[in-house]
Amino acid sequence: MELEATTLKRMVRNILTTRPDEIGCDECFEQLDRFVEMELAGKNAAEAMPLVQDHLERCTDCREEFEALLAALRDLS
Ligand SMILES: [Zn+2]
Repeated sequence: MELEATTLKRMVRNILTTRPDEIGCDECFEQLDRFVEMELAGKNAAEAMPLVQDHLERCTDCREEFEALLAALRDLS
């Protein structure tokens, strides 16, 4: 049986990056609003929500989501 390259890459990445306390994209997304609000309020969101910060550093999809949300809310205020 041959593994697809993308599947293999994902497996390797999971092995390299998975930690017992890390959160997934769903959980990150659920907390993203609050994270962005803290950022905009000038609070240290990274320190208050380290797991979200941790996920954003490793997940391009969520990072883009975060930056889009941040930019959108900045425009509003
Ligand atoms: Zn993610």
